[in-house]
Amino acid sequence: MEEIKNYINGELLPAVSGRRLDNFAPATGEVYSHLPDSGEQEVAVAIVAAQTAFPQWSSLAAEERSRYLFRLADLIEQRAEELALAESIDTGKPVALARAVDIPRAVSNFRFFAAAATQFASESHATGKQAINYTLRQPVGLAGCISPWNLPLYLFTWKIAPALAAGNCVVGKPSELAPMTAYRLAEICRAAELPPGVLNIIHGTGERAGAALVAAPQIPAISFTGGTKTGAAIAAVAAPRFKKLSLELGGKNPVLVFADCDYPAMLRTTLRSSFSNQGEICLCGSRLLVEASLYEKFKKDFVAAAAALKVGDPLLAETQLGAVISRQHLEKILSYVDLAQREGGRVLCGGHPVKVAGRCAHGWFMTPTVIADLPPACRTNQEEIFGPVVSLAPFESEEEALQLANNVPYGLAAIVWTENLTRAHRLAHGLQAGMVWINCWMLRDLRTPFGGMKNSGVGREGGWEALRFFTEPKNICVKLRESPQSGSLPNHD
Ligand code: NAD
Repeated sequence: MEEIKNYINGELLPAVSGRRLDNFAPATGEVYSHLPDSGEQEVAVAIVAAQTAFPQWSSLAAEERSRYLFRLADLIEQRAEELALAESIDTGKPVALARAVDIPRAVSNFRFFAAAATQFASESHATGKQAINYTLRQPVGLAGCISPWNLPLYLFTWKIAPALAAGNCVVGKPSELAPMTAYRLAEICRAAELPPGVLNIIHGTGERAGAALVAAPQIPAISFTGGTKTGAAIAAVAAPRFKKLSLELGGKNPVLVFADCDYPAMLRTTLRSSFSNQGEICLCGSRLLVEASLYEKFKKDFVAAAAALKVGDPLLAETQLGAVISRQHLEKILSYVDLAQREGGRVLCGGHPVKVAGRCAHGWFMTPTVIADLPPACRTNQEEIFGPVVSLAPFESEEEALQLANNVPYGLAAIVWTENLTRAHRLAHGLQAGMVWINCWMLRDLRTPFGGMKNSGVGREGGWEALRFFTEPKNICVKLRESPQSGSLPNHD
């Protein structure tokens, strides 16, 4: 059974206490590896390593840091098949999805920020002929990067890559539920001869390892992706310490379907936006709002297509939905199906666990689930479920669609299906979401701002936004000549 290790100062180490946690394979329900149960002690050692590495790493020319990141990308790419398999076993997701999405995106994250590092520039402001101001963008120093289990390597590297590119050293904590590819990344960093201490990866629970990272006074910036409740707990610890915070949190994303849409494309993509990765993507659309004139047809076609999706062994090529991350998560999703029925909802398909034969007999599988007739304000329609469950509701007008779409505490993403471009733009302006996809979903350009509003988070990742987050702007004002008044007036500010 593999023993996952921390990566501190270039070395692979167990927890100081020797304590370890079980790591389950969701498709079989079995423990298949262990990870260190780290806490304050390991975080403290990692911080010293990062502090020691920082002066040299931050002094490298951007091109040199960039070369390291390109090398990491190349090595991930060389091991792509092995990493896709590891991701699938660790999370229960179909290996085909890990192959097509998770691992290529981890490669792109490093390549993108390797290139961005060499292009990042800052502003200068001429104050007439009197002075010139220029802004230095210096690395914050040490960055804490905490990531969730749903897209493990994809989201971990989405934080690490810009943090390193900007010249910071990193202490990262991947999810304890899906730590394997972060461990492989540590091996890859060693193979790439990344200088010791530049990246440190601490494994363990959020309560111990994560909390120690957030509280550490030596780490001035925390980039976190995970649940809204956890984000609030982190903000409560970080705010009085005046840390920079980037919080990418939960969602309850609406899909607005108008009768004039490209129906086959909409149906195909909505199936994907509902059930990809077992619905365990923060960007999945979970509230399907459909124009009344199309509602009955959509309901019939969508339910038939959802019911036909193949749930099963994630390692089989034909599998479309694998296992959900844990027994507790499966129970949580099922409890929402119960709640939905108590709230007046009608389950049109799914709503129950799936028994998969053979090696996956004890895995945590669930059917794609579609629920109709729920009132908009009920808990099922307001709270994030993060599983293969969507609700359907009809709307009569564009105004009603917008009102329903915005009527949740979250504001991460929204999806609009219509061929009427004016309407699409109008809606996009009114939607309370950090990202709006029109006639598509998960079409990503890594330069764009990524993140949400309301309870979906604070700040944005991606492109320059990420490099700005991981740097501290410093304005430098250089006087060029005496102004006519200088000396005669008191200085202000
Ligand atoms: P989670 O909040 O339980 O855990 C996320 C990470 O935070 C894990 O590494 C965990 O160990 C750590 N953590 C937990 N408590 C902590 C604490 N007190 N201090 C510091 N770290 C702590 O989330 P999850 O269950 O792993 O992920 C699912 C959630 O993530 C969903 O709500 C989903 O919407 C959200 N998510 C958001 C985005 C986005 O970009 N907005 C992307 C993916 C997932």
